[in-house]
Amino acid sequence: MIFNIFTLFPEFFESPLKTGLMGKAAESGIIKTGLIDIRDFSDNKHKRCDDSPYGGGSGMVLMPEPVFRAIEAQKKNNVPLILTSPGGRVLDQAFVKELAGKGEISIVCGNYEGVDQRIIDRYIDYEVSIGDYVISGGEFAALIIMNAVSRYVPGFMSNTASLEEESFEENLLEYPHYTRPQEINGMAVPEILLSGHHEKIRLWREAQSIEKTKRVRPDLYNKYLKK
Ligand code: SAH
Repeated sequence: MIFNIFTLFPEFFESPLKTGLMGKAAESGIIKTGLIDIRDFSDNKHKRCDDSPYGGGSGMVLMPEPVFRAIEAQKKNNVPLILTSPGGRVLDQAFVKELAGKGEISIVCGNYEGVDQRIIDRYIDYEVSIGDYVISGGEFAALIIMNAVSRYVPGFMSNTASLEEESFEENLLEYPHYTRPQEINGMAVPEILLSGHHEKIRLWREAQSIEKTKRVRPDLYNKYLKK
């Protein structure tokens, strides 16, 4: 899987790409990340990439020229170009899986109040939001997209079976997990998990998933019922 990231802060990605499963995947080459510093494409001697908004209002806007040039320098046909944006389609597991199937994606990290609309109009295939809240820069969102997508790359997860049982598959949240010890501070592991009876355990886990989804995420539960 290849990620091309357009950002004002390439250094932001250094530590995550050295850490945990992402670090391992980057080292073994099953994920490759190209970091494109938008500032390198500024013609301003201070490498400025923001300017004030037409029509007034607070904050600054990511300028179109450096982003246009950065994208043109990279331009890859058939590679979807994503913009991180609270105004985008909210990322979900189905879309993560779809993106993983592309093999290569490019992500523009928005900053300031956002990006000049003409960047979106000219180049962007998908505006993607990581949820209904605002963060200060698209780098966080890009990392989340990258990490979620990477989990579908063969070899990324040591145990691919866990992908199929996870939260959001079938529109259900996952059942609770327990490990040793069997009892801690008076709290015991549910008997059924010690029974060795695989079918009963499967049914218990399914019931737990359904109960939790109904209680915590009625929106998801309704989707589950409709399927
Ligand atoms: N003024 C904007 C928020 C800008 S936040 C608004 O009200 O919609 C600055 C940048 O952070 C955005 O350009 C975007 O790239 C990123 N960002 C903020 N919230 C996000 C979210 N929920 N999902 C994805 N990216 C987000």
